[in-house]
Amino acid sequence: MDILTLKSKVKLGCTRCEKCCIYRGDIKINPLTACRISKYLNIELNEFLESYTDRLENSKLETVLKTTGELQECVLYDKKIKGCRIHAVKPMQCVMFPLVPENLKRDYFYNSNQCIFKDAKEITVNEWINGNNKLYSRNKKIYIEWIKFLEWIEPKLVNVSKEQIEEFYKILFKEYNLKKWNLKTQMLNNMWKVEKLVKEKVK
Ligand code: SF4
Ligand code: SF4
Repeated sequence: MDILTLKSKVKLGCTRCEKCCIYRGDIKINPLTACRISKYLNIELNEFLESYTDRLENSKLETVLKTTGELQECVLYDKKIKGCRIHAVKPMQCVMFPLVPENLKRDYFYNSNQCIFKDAKEITVNEWINGNNKLYSRNKKIYIEWIKFLEWIEPKLVNVSKEQIEEFYKILFKEYNLKKWNLKTQMLNNMWKVEKLVKEKVK
């Protein structure tokens, strides 16, 4: 498996073959992405969470985009335009696809080779993942913070009541003022609030 850096050249391009939005597996979203997609779709955060997301099985807090139909299409895939309805704010997994992070802090990736386009032009990894409004570099730090937070909290929730977990979920995913510009700060504050509660309540 070759490790790719931001400067590595890759042969990538998009023929709109649909593959990356169908049978794609779990597309995880963090609270910031949930807020941004809600704003983009011009709907309330609660409505977005209820209509477009599911809680991941075998996890207490991980949240994923719903899939629909036999082909398990992503709920945000638009068949008519053969494209993503939320391209400008899509989740990091989709921003990077078909590249997969090997070490995000160092910007190391590998190519999953799930997107086969034999006539694709050679471009740099940076061009691929930052071509869409610099979504990768703008969201990387908070994406890592969220993964680290989940790694810390999930094992602590094994014997915690359902009600308590729902309280944590509500703080993490629902307590936002979408009208304010500081969504990243709101998300970090909510994570700290839950971290404090876990330290107090969960032995
Ligand atoms: S799998 Fe590749 S070619 Fe197909 S839609 Fe996704 S990015 Fe485009
Ligand atoms: S969010 Fe968009 S790019 Fe990602 S799987 Fe869904 S439709 Fe495809």
